[in-house]
Amino acid sequence: MKTLRVVFEDAQAKGDAVGHFNVSDLVLLKAVLAAARELDVPVVVGLSEGERAFVGTREIAAVVKSLREEFDFPIFLNADHTHSLAKGIEAAKAGFDAIVFDLSALPFEENVRQTKQAVQALKSINASMMVEGEIGDIGTGSEIHDSSPDLTKGLSSPEEAKQFVESTGVDILAPAVGNMHGMLRSMVKGETKKRLDIERIAKIKKASGVFLTLHGGSGTDDDDLRRAIAAGINLVHINTELRVAWRRGLEQGLAKMPDEVVPYKIFPPALEAVKQVVLSRLRLFNGKRRAA
Ligand SMILES: [Zn+2]
Repeated sequence: MKTLRVVFEDAQAKGDAVGHFNVSDLVLLKAVLAAARELDVPVVVGLSEGERAFVGTREIAAVVKSLREEFDFPIFLNADHTHSLAKGIEAAKAGFDAIVFDLSALPFEENVRQTKQAVQALKSINASMMVEGEIGDIGTGSEIHDSSPDLTKGLSSPEEAKQFVESTGVDILAPAVGNMHGMLRSMVKGETKKRLDIERIAKIKKASGVFLTLHGGSGTDDDDLRRAIAAGINLVHINTELRVAWRRGLEQGLAKMPDEVVPYKIFPPALEAVKQVVLSRLRLFNGKRRAA
């Protein structure tokens, strides 16, 4: 089985990006795996601190390891948005492949200092664990928002990206390039799209020289995503689109079967709805391979 680092290198060489999908139950996990297997592309599942608290850090690590072995399939596990070293160590010890160590809410110098310490501590537990650091402001909460924050104030610069990567030793950087967590109501309806600063991504890639993650990919213009991948994005996070599909699918299941109480009969429409979203995103992220 390839390591996540090699999967990133391969995707980068092909001009593809790896899809990252957040899961917080077995319906989401099964949907993500089914879509990735159908297209035969590697995939990362991520759980934030809140998602891990619900599912269980050790429990999800055991399930993903089991799936990887049973299907001999490259599915990887990421500890998304981890705000303390204690939670990071817990994930590293449980066997996560990657971690997003996110102290982007702190002043830059403090973010650098603590992220550097975290890189050393986490790699001492698992040398192959990939550590991602965060700079800039992309908002919080993969939810439906009423209004957009002023994203222009928190955009990352190539200079700070270079300084952050050199000072901390992170493997992956998550910059703020017009992306944001969550979706506006108009995005859920498909009336508006997030737009990305492609030139800034290209400059940050050149200056930092590391793998780049795009957070908050839900609701982003398809063509901007393609251009962002071409400019150097290696991993794209999708969460809110899956949560919207999960809820709509569940509502359909409940409405279709008003007297049903068997969970595995109610959930399939939710699983199918999530799978369709993952399929469409994975096709886009792995575009060149599909065209070949
Ligand atoms: Zn994120």
